[in-house]
Amino acid sequence: MTMMTPDISQPVYGVLINGVWSAGQGEVFTVVNPSTAQPLATVHTASSADVNLAVEAARKALPAWKHASPQHRADCLKRIAQGIAAAKDELVAMQMQNSGKPAFEAELDVGDAIATFEYYADLITRDDRQLEASVDVPDDGFDAGYLLEACGVAGLIVPWNFPMVTTAWKVAPALAAGCTVLLKPAELTPLTEIMLAHIIQDAGLPAGVFNLLVGAGSEVGAAIVEHPGIDKVSFTGSNAVGRKVMAAAARQTKPVSLELGGKSALIVCGDADLDNAVDLALKGVYFNAGQMCSATSRILVEEGIYPAFREKFVAAAAALVVGAPDTDAVEMGPLISETQQKRVLSYIEAGKAAGAVCLTGGQALAGQAGFFVTPTVFDRVPDDSAIWREEIFGPVACLRIFKDDAEAIRIANDSDFGLVATVATRSQQRANTLARALHVGMVWVNSPQVIFPHTSWGGMKQSGIGRELGPWGLRAFQQLKHVVTLKGSMAD
Ligand code: NAD
Repeated sequence: MTMMTPDISQPVYGVLINGVWSAGQGEVFTVVNPSTAQPLATVHTASSADVNLAVEAARKALPAWKHASPQHRADCLKRIAQGIAAAKDELVAMQMQNSGKPAFEAELDVGDAIATFEYYADLITRDDRQLEASVDVPDDGFDAGYLLEACGVAGLIVPWNFPMVTTAWKVAPALAAGCTVLLKPAELTPLTEIMLAHIIQDAGLPAGVFNLLVGAGSEVGAAIVEHPGIDKVSFTGSNAVGRKVMAAAARQTKPVSLELGGKSALIVCGDADLDNAVDLALKGVYFNAGQMCSATSRILVEEGIYPAFREKFVAAAAALVVGAPDTDAVEMGPLISETQQKRVLSYIEAGKAAGAVCLTGGQALAGQAGFFVTPTVFDRVPDDSAIWREEIFGPVACLRIFKDDAEAIRIANDSDFGLVATVATRSQQRANTLARALHVGMVWVNSPQVIFPHTSWGGMKQSGIGRELGPWGLRAFQQLKHVVTLKGSMAD
């Protein structure tokens, strides 16, 4: 890999088209270290004209890549996984600087990307059913089978909160399926994706199969979605932009996968292991400084253990070590930008104004230039308040009492979103009842948000459309075609 040393006076190339790195035709972006609020690097970016060039390259590369053997594509993915593993330390260090993630969080991000490329390398050699032997049809006069084929050129658009993970979850299955791709990272965090693009290039993919376009969402992202040469769009990001992507794609009846926001619940039952429940609450709302689509920021606690849970949780939240990820002691880093910090602080003020009681936190970290907000817990949160209903995307937890399962289910499901839920209970029966009744795409029982590439990721209601990971992640980049043949009609 050509290593990138951040040097703000030397903009790095953020545009890879047809195997060639270039300055692109967009503006030069300044990337900021959120822990210090200081510039970290400058990046040359793409314009919509570069999108046209990248689509041309990806279309040219498509037939050979689509029809390459699954084993060949798998070998490329394995080399990408090996390349990420070999550069793990540099990627982690860059992630810590560009995202402000503490080391353990950056390591999870990079480790998950390796596991995802390995998983799809394995899956494609087992699962690429080019022509299914047969499908039983109720007429002996016909043979029926189906073909699964790559859906074409894929436009992949990702956010800033888990740059490596969200990128790997799209790039690995898309390449495995035989799609050629255009990847657009978020403006705020392009640096690890630029490193990843070098790794992908070094893995020996043919020119044009993988193209990188760092650039503005409103120009480059929009141009990717609107380009008639893009066959499929896979988008992860906010609901506001997701709706725009869907509307633009609809004009060409273009398939889209959407991974959007959440406002998820942790349900702590009265029989739960209290210490584990507190740990689940901490991880569910303060990991990545709460900048998680899957944050369980609505914490519902059964009334019998409410006072004990609240006391332990508030004490643990207040004791979290917040700061720049310079030492292993740091447990929570900054928010990604000043805009995000101001947004979260304004939600906190709105919560107070609505009558919710702030038990701890609720402030910027004193004496720091970086974009820190202290771990915050609200109690007595009004049902119709913005902090209860909207995705804050920061370290803000809202507590609520419930009396029985029916009430917990009603409160948890009373949301526009439906991404995840966590349940803390020692009763298998209660876990089953809750898991079945919750309108969400993923349920964790007594476990932190463990993610395996083998299981699905995605939500119900306004949290999105489609699923990533597992075989479903591959299917998102494939099309199904059935073939029915009249028996005895062949001369050979
Ligand atoms: P965002 O919607 O602002 O940006 C996401 C991406 O879309 C960026 O690359 C951006 O440049 C691009 N973009 C912006 N305008 C565009 C347009 N008009 N057309 C096409 N692309 C455009 O989101 P964000 O602030 O980067 O990320 C935070 C959001 O992402 C949160 O809502 C979070 O819940 C969500 N998210 C969801 C998941 C999931 O798996 N469900 C995972 C991570 C983040």
